[in-house]
Amino acid sequence: MTHLKLENVTKRYSDVVAVNGVDIDIEEGEFVSLIGPSGCGKSTTLKTISGLTKPSDGLIEIAGRDVTNLPPKDRDIAMVFQNIALFPHMSVRENITFGLRLKNYDSEEIAKRVDEAAEILQIEGMLDRMPDELSGGQRQRVAIGRAIVMDPEVFLMDEPLANLDAKLRVHMRTELQRLQQELGVTTVYVTHDQAEAMTMSDRVAIINSGELQQFAPPLECYNYPTNLFVAGFIGSPSMRFVPGIIEGDSFSGQGIDMNLPLFSDIPVEASAEVTLGVRPEDVYQRDSAPVEETTDPIALQVDVVQPMGNELVVYLRPDDSSFGFDTQSENTEAPASGGNQLLMTTEPNAALEPGQSIEVVLDRQKIHLFDSETGTALVHGVEPPAESISK
Ligand code: ADP
Repeated sequence: MTHLKLENVTKRYSDVVAVNGVDIDIEEGEFVSLIGPSGCGKSTTLKTISGLTKPSDGLIEIAGRDVTNLPPKDRDIAMVFQNIALFPHMSVRENITFGLRLKNYDSEEIAKRVDEAAEILQIEGMLDRMPDELSGGQRQRVAIGRAIVMDPEVFLMDEPLANLDAKLRVHMRTELQRLQQELGVTTVYVTHDQAEAMTMSDRVAIINSGELQQFAPPLECYNYPTNLFVAGFIGSPSMRFVPGIIEGDSFSGQGIDMNLPLFSDIPVEASAEVTLGVRPEDVYQRDSAPVEETTDPIALQVDVVQPMGNELVVYLRPDDSSFGFDTQSENTEAPASGGNQLLMTTEPNAALEPGQSIEVVLDRQKIHLFDSETGTALVHGVEPPAESISK
């Protein structure tokens, strides 16, 4: 059942449309992340749910109630922010119980809820400490405790882990995940960190320039991105793109010419300008592909090799270096060498040297074709053709 509904939610500031016609239906108990680049409208969307901002248009429902015009305190939500605003002059216990005391809960109920939250968050021993006696991670746990005791319909979290160091962030990520599984409270989580969103969420809402691009489980966005933006945004190192033309049974792009017969029912017209997308893990050295259906070999040159420990990330360039691989402008992750290049991840001990000529093949099932003009995905996986239509 839909527990939190955003219908055509739009927020305009004087000269900016921060959120543009966003529709999202979230089920009870779901963990949904809003992700996208900085300034795309994630926080504004969250603020319209919390009531900190009023949408210019649209409707927001929580548990079947229209809350669009209600103040935050009447929405049955609890918020956790990046900046952990604990009251410095209050103990942990007083901080956690603050909201309950405001709502005049009796002391027995307050004690029960604090004990439960403290146990879940493993902060039982810290209840009488002051905030300045806590580490960053402990303070964030207290902030989460303050949200938990309110027993809200919806948790709203805005980059709650962003101020923690990398190791603690990964640890707290797991804790939050466990907590959400245990409590089953519908959660909307804002982050710019796609790894965080991918690992924690039931579904992710990917936003760009105020517009919802795709709202689906993380792996669906990864394997079946609806457009070039999602394809480039989800995954690290990210998918690489080669603009080109489909002509009959072949694809010609910058530095890549290959036979690429398509099934006749694939919606790609003859001479269509398409962008071919392929993830680094779907590029293999010739003869070492563990998949059956690959493209013809493509001759390339090793440009840069980056050992990651568990794998090598190999930047490739066309053998004739007058060509340049292209990638979409939104693709923020610039390779170390500064170009836009096809990438291959491979086993960590592969003997590959910069300058070496190699032949690679692409897993046909993992090739994505996008309409170059609109960016819309045309097909995911280029199936091998049936004999009858291969010529
Ligand atoms: P994100 O959380 O994805 O980084 P925001 O939701 O904070 O993005 O901002 C979306 C857009 O709206 C940005 O262009 C931002 O500058 C603009 N914006 C946000 N808040 C305001 C405001 N109070 N007044 C004017 N513009 C704003």
